[in-house]
Amino acid sequence: MECNICGKKDVLVRAEIEGAILEVCQGCARYGKILSRPPELKRSSPVPQRRVIEPEDVEAVSADAGEKIRKKREKLGLTQEQLARKVAEKESIVQKIETGAMAIPIVMARKFEKQLSLHLVEEAGPAMVSMSKTPGSIMTIGDLIKKKEG
Ligand SMILES: [Zn+2]
Repeated sequence: MECNICGKKDVLVRAEIEGAILEVCQGCARYGKILSRPPELKRSSPVPQRRVIEPEDVEAVSADAGEKIRKKREKLGLTQEQLARKVAEKESIVQKIETGAMAIPIVMARKFEKQLSLHLVEEAGPAMVSMSKTPGSIMTIGDLIKKKEG
């Protein structure tokens, strides 16, 4: 493209100069009002954006947590009241948890874990990571052969 004013071969912009819309070079464009800038040159090889997938912190209190707590408490010779005091909860809460009448929130389960040296919270991290892999990202030997033949 050549500048409509000076004839210089350059990247042109559309500019309004003295009422006329012209395709001009950057140098001439300053004599008028630039209406549009040329689109930026696209990179020939865009870098593919790599999305880092953080494994979700999936945690769940094990189904038999209440039973585990009761067994451990009895082993330690603690009453429900004493245990309740240790974890700063109401005795009725401990009762409900031990009988399975109440689901244990993870935060609370952590307290029981600490006080009774138990493992109550289970993590389901690795399974989630393998599931979130992008399909097609893995090349099989079959794909490689196809490429060679193709
Ligand atoms: Zn020009």
